Amino acid sequence: MGQKDLKKMVDAVEQELKSHGVSRRDAMKMAAVGSSAFLLGGTNAQAATEARASDAKGKILIIGGGLAGMSTAARFTNTLSNPDITIIEPGDTATSYQPGQTLVGAGLWTDSDVNYKTADFIPSGVKVIKEKAVEFNPDNNTVKTSGGQEISYDFLVIAAGLQLDFSKIQGLGISNSILSRGSDEGVRGAIGKNGISSIYFANGATDTWANMQKFVADAKSGKKVRGVFTHPNTPIKCGGAPKKIMYLTDARLREAGDAARANADLTFYPNGSKMFGVPEYHNAIQKQFEVRDMKWNYRHNLIAVDPEKKIATFNSHWKQKGAWDEDLEEYGIETKSKTKEVPFDFLHITPPMSAAKEIADSPVGSGKGWVPVNKETLQHVKFPNVFALGDIAAVPMGKTGGSARKQYKVVVDNVIASMEGKELTSKYAGYTVCPLITSIGTVMLAEFNWTKKPTPSFPLDPTQERYIWWLLKVYALKPMTQYGMLSGRA
Ligand SMILES: Cc1cc2nc3c(=O)[nH]c(=O)nc-3n(C[C@H](O)[C@H](O)[C@H](O)COP(=O)(O)OP(=O)(O)OC[C@H]3O[C@@H](n4cnc5c(N)ncnc54)[C@H](O)[C@@H]3O)c2cc1C
Repeated sequence: MGQKDLKKMVDAVEQELKSHGVSRRDAMKMAAVGSSAFLLGGTNAQAATEARASDAKGKILIIGGGLAGMSTAARFTNTLSNPDITIIEPGDTATSYQPGQTLVGAGLWTDSDVNYKTADFIPSGVKVIKEKAVEFNPDNNTVKTSGGQEISYDFLVIAAGLQLDFSKIQGLGISNSILSRGSDEGVRGAIGKNGISSIYFANGATDTWANMQKFVADAKSGKKVRGVFTHPNTPIKCGGAPKKIMYLTDARLREAGDAARANADLTFYPNGSKMFGVPEYHNAIQKQFEVRDMKWNYRHNLIAVDPEKKIATFNSHWKQKGAWDEDLEEYGIETKSKTKEVPFDFLHITPPMSAAKEIADSPVGSGKGWVPVNKETLQHVKFPNVFALGDIAAVPMGKTGGSARKQYKVVVDNVIASMEGKELTSKYAGYTVCPLITSIGTVMLAEFNWTKKPTPSFPLDPTQERYIWWLLKVYALKPMTQYGMLSGRA
């Protein structure tokens, strides 16, 4: 990262601190966090190779100008002496800071803190087509847009994120999928009223805060209330967010007093059977839940909601001993399930998520929808001049901005290596990071990689909740994303 960008970023962090009245002592701590934040994932996790000047030539087409796509475009622009880059992106606010929606949902930020205009982040010289890519023809190296243009490329980078499928939950009256930013027609209203909330889309986050305030006020007034938090049976972006919003609800209830907290029952209903894929973090989270009297019921997938009666219906599933298998001479294991109705006053839905249909069903998609790539080089498994990164890539690791921050450097290095006829040597090591907010003022910084072991960037116990990581989450990560990642430099 150059001096100019570094200064811009540090200025932005300082501005954040000043506007929030952070004390001088905390500001000193932040100076340490601000500089060390660049190291995130850089010690135990493999860092991507550095950008280098290249005269390589080729027409690069990027699908999606969100966090991963725009950062990739910026890094190509910095690295190539003659860049020829086009992005297809329909959204006006595609580069908005989605991780901040969790803080909006708990009333700590407002939407204006996280809503960015795509136009402000387009690297100079990069052409943007404000349409959707609707047809992929990788045998001819062309993509068709929603406006009927046929765009050819030498290299294709797919960074189209994922969509939210609230429509898969019965009873909500929703028939369409939406993105985390942009139009939420057909969804806002169904999600937002009757205590039904979701931080996964922009207006949903704003409405979550309104619903949470009512929930807390009811508990404070003496009413016994139930908060229900879900995690679906599909891969999702930011696996920590469904729990973060639950921790923040707990924190808001505690602010309202012991009686308010005692009047509220908070239960997490995840489809899976663990809190986290890394055992050390799983154990730490279960303990944090116990200490806060937050409950959980594993193996529950939300399938329907009755908004009027305020009842959530789950598919509750479990495994049990099955029939005797004569050939294997052992008992089989069978999955059983039943539906379970759970009344709620506040329901936070993490919706099922999928790759956009136009990509999932195309030759560059896959049976499961996600774009199949080599998990290390991020090169498509069938088409060598196609790469994918970010949420849409079929990479068996967290769909987070933290993963994309490592992946975009790998993609740029490997596309340029391909242009130069060289081997692809840059590899994604599976690093990802989840700053798990555990209260207003504490965060557990869960870093890990393919090994599924904690890979802390700092010599501190990574299973501990710390104020310093709260400062990192709330004040440093947003400017790091704006001025570091989206400028292609960090
Ligand atoms: C509530 C919430 C909390 C989160 N918390 C964290 C966190 O704490 N830490 C963290 O690291 N990450 C977090 N994330 C996840 C992070 O925001 C995403 O992983 C990241 O934005 C992924 O980047 P992306 O570019 O792959 O997708 P996006 O940023 O979503 O961008 C995809 C873009 O592709 C475009 N697109 C889609 N289809 C097409 C098409 N057919 N043609 C052209 N363009 C198309 C879309 O318009 C969109 O702009 C959170 C996300 C949410 C919603």
